[in-house]
Amino acid sequence: MDLQTIIKLDEQYYINTFGKRTPVCFDHGSGITLYDTEGVAYTDFFGGIAVNSLGYGHKGLTKALTEQVQKLLHVSNLYYNENQTLLAEKLVQHSVADKIFFANCGAEANESAIKLAKMYFYKKNRPEKNEIITLQNSFHGRTLACVAATGQEKYQKPYAPLTPGFSHVPINDFEALAQAADETKTAAVMLELIQGESGVNPLTQDYVDRLAALCREKDILLIVDEVQTGMGRTGAWFCYEHYGLVPDIFTLAKGLGGGVPIGAVCARAEVAAAFSPGDHGGTFGGGPLASCAGLAVCNAFEAERLPENSKLVGEYLKERLEALGETSPVRFGVRGMGLMLGIVFSEPIAKKLQQALFEAKYLVGAVGDSVLRLLPPLILQKKDVDAFCEVLASVLKNL
Ligand SMILES: *Cc1c(COP(=O)(O)O)cnc(C)c1O
Repeated sequence: MDLQTIIKLDEQYYINTFGKRTPVCFDHGSGITLYDTEGVAYTDFFGGIAVNSLGYGHKGLTKALTEQVQKLLHVSNLYYNENQTLLAEKLVQHSVADKIFFANCGAEANESAIKLAKMYFYKKNRPEKNEIITLQNSFHGRTLACVAATGQEKYQKPYAPLTPGFSHVPINDFEALAQAADETKTAAVMLELIQGESGVNPLTQDYVDRLAALCREKDILLIVDEVQTGMGRTGAWFCYEHYGLVPDIFTLAKGLGGGVPIGAVCARAEVAAAFSPGDHGGTFGGGPLASCAGLAVCNAFEAERLPENSKLVGEYLKERLEALGETSPVRFGVRGMGLMLGIVFSEPIAKKLQQALFEAKYLVGAVGDSVLRLLPPLILQKKDVDAFCEVLASVLKNL
């Protein structure tokens, strides 16, 4: 089908919540390259919003999924599921968590984490300890509780009344947090260590250290939303490693399935034990196909050392960009870690630059007016960085 026909049908039948889509329809991919329905190649520095961690057409993932499709797509969670068990084991081996529960996406994983935190204090006979503090400009997903958790009014206003019990404090402001945290009422602090959706804003080490100490002191659970920062994205399996942090609960989704939807709630044993049979559930979470994908991603991470690659090539990309930012006609800085980087301009050129890069056959993200967001597949190589920086330099010159 030609692109114009697809666009026309989409306008007629699809509920448009994403604004005007970029006028391209992808058909297949290989490595970090996507091909549209006319065979035109695009280099992907956005990875399906941090989802396609292994790029496209990864051999191990494709083989595992092909075999699984031929065997079994779904069994209910009333039966044992080898893939699910093995994926849970893998995530525990690579993290500070002792137990895993599976969901279908990031929002559902966060919902589960919020429920687990509330249940933890409920079972301790402290039901009044049920409030959650999150950060301003955070993003935790689109379900109603996650919208309440998300510290951005634009996502909340039309959906009032929201789930009660959430409050928001400015990022990297310890005093504000200390004032909001109440030993008798606060169940958990929930945060992203690098805010993704709002423009790649990292928390400072000092803030995280003090926050973790405060949580311990006031018996408050620390939930780290690693939906975007997890699974190798920042140059470690999980971003909390960079901060020397041990969260009570952390959540995963985006990169975990390499393109197949799956989410996970990962918890320390004592916290995980708050969920007893009947307390929570889900028909699809961690089904044979999704768990197969997660397992194949973990296997590829181990075999190809992709978190290490993310660190190495991410550092190289950051260096190259920083050098370019100092000499280019439009000056810019770079934020973030590993292969989660924000290019921050002093002028509102993000949308225009994104469009110009698209015309040069590169896919990147834009946040607001002045930040470009890069979330390339973790298989990225230095030569891909060189090629991108060359194109970016020439696009900036001609902007
Ligand atoms: C994308 C994202 C979510 C929501 O994940 P979905 O799979 O879209 O529900 C939650 N938290 C963070 C940090 C995210 O980046």
